[in-house]
Amino acid sequence: MKYYSIAIDGPAGAGKSTIAKKVAKHLNFIYVDTGAMYRAMALYFIRNNIESIDKDNIEKACGHVDVSIEYKDKEQQIILNGENVNGLIRTEEVGNMASAISIYQAVRLKLVELQQDLANRANVIMDGRDIGTYVLPQADLKIYLTASSKERAKRRFLELKERGISADIDEIENDITERDIRDMNREFAPLKQADDAVLVDSSYMTIEEVADTIIKLFEKIR
Ligand code: C5P
Repeated sequence: MKYYSIAIDGPAGAGKSTIAKKVAKHLNFIYVDTGAMYRAMALYFIRNNIESIDKDNIEKACGHVDVSIEYKDKEQQIILNGENVNGLIRTEEVGNMASAISIYQAVRLKLVELQQDLANRANVIMDGRDIGTYVLPQADLKIYLTASSKERAKRRFLELKERGISADIDEIENDITERDIRDMNREFAPLKQADDAVLVDSSYMTIEEVADTIIKLFEKIR
């Protein structure tokens, strides 16, 4: 049976997960949030006091970490060594650690296998940094979703505010820019637009407009 896959890549805060969830709901596809997998690995390293620069121990630890996913009410649940850690991975600390440890090939290969396996078993819309270029190079539709760093910082700031967390918008923009540089310049599977990806700049688009654009593009190729 042929399963469809849609890859959405782009920098931090471009709105990938919000859009991907919406499109998944519309098409009745499974949404796979690969960033959450890197975050779960990051949480493991934080809990075990392994520093992001400690390549040897990170590589060793990869053998003891088991990351898997389950779906509850169609929401992805991240399971780290048997524990559901969905509620623990959305902090800035975990996000920054995820960005730092995602440069290691050992970490990436472990998660890529899980991601490819999911795409072999269902229609998926998967978001991340290397989905169209590395994880699913044969994806039926590839989107590179971006927005200016100012706009991305603003969105992140408002999202934190809504959750009652105070933050400094300039600091958020610095963090985002730092993450972009690291994601785009790592040696293994860096963030870049795939040759056959459609570029969507969401700086001046609403969530609905972006989701509609992707759904229309998909309907053309289905
Ligand atoms: O998307 P999210 O912010 O949750 O991802 C956390 C970090 O995981 C990113 O900053 C990025 O460095 C890394 N990541 C990655 N490849 C993916 C998904 C996420 O390197 N496919």
